[in-house]
Amino acid sequence: MNSQSRSHCRTLRRGESGYEDARRGAMWNARVPDRFPAVIAQARDVYDVIAAVRLAKREVLRVGVVSGGHSWSGNHLREGGLLLDVSRLNDLTIDRDAMRATTGPGRKGHELAGMLAKQKLFFPAGHCRGVAVGGYLLQGGYGWHSRELGPACMSVVGLDIVTADGRLVHASADENADLYWAARGSGPGFFGIVTRFHLQLYPRPQVIGMGVQTYGREMFDDVFRWLHEVGSEVPRSIELQALMSRDAPRVRGAGLLVVAPIFAESYRQAWHELAFFRKNPLRKKAKLSIPFLPCGINFMYRGVGQHYPANHRYAVDNMWTRAAIEDLLPGLNRVADTLPPAPSHMLWMNWSPPTQRPDMAYSVEDNTYLALYSVWQNAAEDEQFASWPVDCLRPMQELSSGCQLADENLGQRPQRFVTEENLSRLDELRAKYDPERKFYSWMGRPQ
Ligand SMILES: Cc1cc2nc3c(=O)[nH]c(=O)nc-3n(C[C@H](O)[C@H](O)[C@H](O)COP(=O)(O)OP(=O)(O)OC[C@H]3O[C@@H](n4cnc5c(N)ncnc54)[C@H](O)[C@@H]3O)c2cc1C
Repeated sequence: MNSQSRSHCRTLRRGESGYEDARRGAMWNARVPDRFPAVIAQARDVYDVIAAVRLAKREVLRVGVVSGGHSWSGNHLREGGLLLDVSRLNDLTIDRDAMRATTGPGRKGHELAGMLAKQKLFFPAGHCRGVAVGGYLLQGGYGWHSRELGPACMSVVGLDIVTADGRLVHASADENADLYWAARGSGPGFFGIVTRFHLQLYPRPQVIGMGVQTYGREMFDDVFRWLHEVGSEVPRSIELQALMSRDAPRVRGAGLLVVAPIFAESYRQAWHELAFFRKNPLRKKAKLSIPFLPCGINFMYRGVGQHYPANHRYAVDNMWTRAAIEDLLPGLNRVADTLPPAPSHMLWMNWSPPTQRPDMAYSVEDNTYLALYSVWQNAAEDEQFASWPVDCLRPMQELSSGCQLADENLGQRPQRFVTEENLSRLDELRAKYDPERKFYSWMGRPQ
């Protein structure tokens, strides 16, 4: 492919007009790191991507890739390299008969979900509007109905990838199978540029809804004990969550919003599978209790979105755990006692994964997910709020089985994110596909 003659890739060099807007525009988190790529290349198609890789080779620059810029840590912003912005690669095709879609990495998950819904189709896109599929699918992808369908990367059937030597290749179970293996779970450490994802689609669930309960601070221990007790028995159609914040409905001060979103085939199924929630023995002490609220996915997006406002500064950290609740409670109480003002919050999620998954890089997950999000507006308050997630989770490290790459903060607190075996295999594949280490690796690891 003669990419140079076809490429009109816009490039901005540090110091040029437009550069700083492009750098800041590549971050959703308003807390933009003080890391400055030498060049920002804004690709519009695959030819531009190949041309940018060649430019990086000529100028001996390492490459960071950005699709939607929702990496909390700004993994793509590195000092001195080339930032390749593929957000404009966002075309989408849907083949209803084949139950397949293809999408560029810059397409937003909620747009994909919306277009599929019009055709009564479904894909486990993320819980929030605005997140692009590029980073989301590479790191795993926890979306609505993901307990049933698995992390979204399990529904990736193929990828078009530009490699470090500037070749466009296809990866699937039958072609470049090792790249296909790596692309499902390596997230911000992937050593290639995905220009298109090929996705497996599903029929749209007939019924969407949720049960809701809220509790005051005095109930936290009992509620967490109950959540842990029921977790492994919760049907896969339900993603049981508890969100700790200072703005839970009908609660003053720190409260817990316990939500049981369900994706079902009938109202009968939904009602039946939510029985554990309706029968929660603590519900009489709830400040608010709704056994079942039928709703659409847009209502879900709005509800979640309230906790992640745009144009705010964020710091995050997370852990998977299977620890006993009595061991976790001291840490959870420390989180509650130090909880910053809303919209800062802690998310407790029941994941309880199946024992078997397909062979892919994605390999660390556990029964319970804990994630802390510190959210504030003024840069002057960075010192006050930025370390809260790490300060709370570091003392709980011995209870952790590793972290999710979705909410990674590896630069500040390196953690295990795939099994040792898979990490070694990823290192070997990086040496094979990117021998000159053109692509940045995960932060917190040798580059
Ligand atoms: C408000 C908000 C809500 C979120 N909700 C969810 C959620 O519900 N579920 C969930 O699983 N995660 C969620 N996340 C986390 C999110 O999925 C990850 O941060 C993901 O990486 C974002 O994808 P992106 O393309 O927007 O990010 P980017 O910042 O563009 O990408 C992250 C990293 O992925 C790599 N990458 C991106 N695109 C490519 C590409 N085309 N080729 C090669 N490498 C690439 C790069 O290393 C990049 O640094 C959320 C994040 C935010 C900020």
